[in-house]
Amino acid sequence: MQAVIIAIGDELIGGASVDTNSAYLSARLAERGIVAVRHVTVGDDADRITQAITGATEAELVIITGGLGPTLDDLTRRALADAMGVELIEDAHSANRIKAFFDRIGRAMKPSNLTQAMIPAGTEAMDNDCGTAPGIAARLGRADVFALPGPPNEMTEMFEQQVAPRLGVAGALARTILHVFGTGESDIGERIADLMARDANPKVGTTAKGGIISIRIVATGQTSAEADAAADKTANEIRNRLGELIFGQDDQTLASVVGDALKDCGMTLATAESCTGGMIGRMMTETPGASGYFLGGIVAYANSAKTAMLNVPAEVIESHGAVSEQVADAMARGAREKFGADFALSVTGIAGPDGGTPEKPVGLVYIALSGPSSTKVHRHIFSGARDIIRRHAALTAINHLRLALI
Ligand code: ATP
Repeated sequence: MQAVIIAIGDELIGGASVDTNSAYLSARLAERGIVAVRHVTVGDDADRITQAITGATEAELVIITGGLGPTLDDLTRRALADAMGVELIEDAHSANRIKAFFDRIGRAMKPSNLTQAMIPAGTEAMDNDCGTAPGIAARLGRADVFALPGPPNEMTEMFEQQVAPRLGVAGALARTILHVFGTGESDIGERIADLMARDANPKVGTTAKGGIISIRIVATGQTSAEADAAADKTANEIRNRLGELIFGQDDQTLASVVGDALKDCGMTLATAESCTGGMIGRMMTETPGASGYFLGGIVAYANSAKTAMLNVPAEVIESHGAVSEQVADAMARGAREKFGADFALSVTGIAGPDGGTPEKPVGLVYIALSGPSSTKVHRHIFSGARDIIRRHAALTAINHLRLALI
């Protein structure tokens, strides 16, 4: 089966927003053996949207995202009705849901909100559990056409809950994503090459983003139990091959995994950050409930701050330099003591682009982990631009703690 995906919005063609919806949909369709043959992006112009919809019906499946809101520039339902040559009519079920939504949040409903309950005659409204705009399921020529809301969280929920079950793909599908940190995508690719054959079931693929490699496993089967079993078998095989390089799966992050491990053993963490400027603290507190194990952090950028706030002796900075094993060690010990934490992580390094020397090049970062029984300093040389070095240093620090906890 072939599909055309249409993304609607002036903000997309104007460059203010990036069209992530089409990429998401293409990937989800590919998992089901449906090939997206074209992505079309159209501004908020009813005639152009109508033309795009009509032109897309060369494919058996057309998915439209955006333009279903209550404002004047939301033109998808009108354009779809024009493409089908029918009128817009109010869908009573959707109108009731929109009224109930405003009752629930205690806000007066504007008449314009009810325009969202208007759908082309002969089509079906799809409930939106994350917002007010219902989606639309239609048939145009030989194509199944689905119009979904633009906000990515609403779009993904509606795709998974309402569109995917209607795609007429036989059998069930199971998906697992394993996350890896500490090696490159090519290394992972080599170690699991035999599992990545294009037409294998399960399908295995990798993506790298911000230093994290994600291995996506998608299995199909006659029943969901069969698909789950196939995905689990491959996931376990990959776990056996990659061992502790795999830090988590699905929605887990390095910080959430470390947070769970700290919680499980009733331990606490503090941080002392120089070149990462608080990034470790930010990552650790992205997980709800972080107050149960993360006590706090000190961003000590200047030498004077390292001495005043973390008790790093001025002589140590003077004789070894701020970016040194000795300073990282003293920063971690200082933070552990200041906060009364079980563990402390410290980072001091040269993020660049300036400040490097032949002995201490840009990318040199010392990371110390001070724990109940010892303090260990790790020396790393990261490559890339300033933001990449900083992010990599923060993730690597959290990963050192993960490896110490397992
Ligand atoms: P709403 O009811 O929120 O108005 P809508 O269906 O009208 O929903 P739009 O107004 O088109 O949706 O888009 C709402 C927001 O969703 C946009 O500002 C944009 O941030 C995001 N968005 C829309 N389309 C896309 C897309 N293709 N990719 C990523 N984000 C998108």
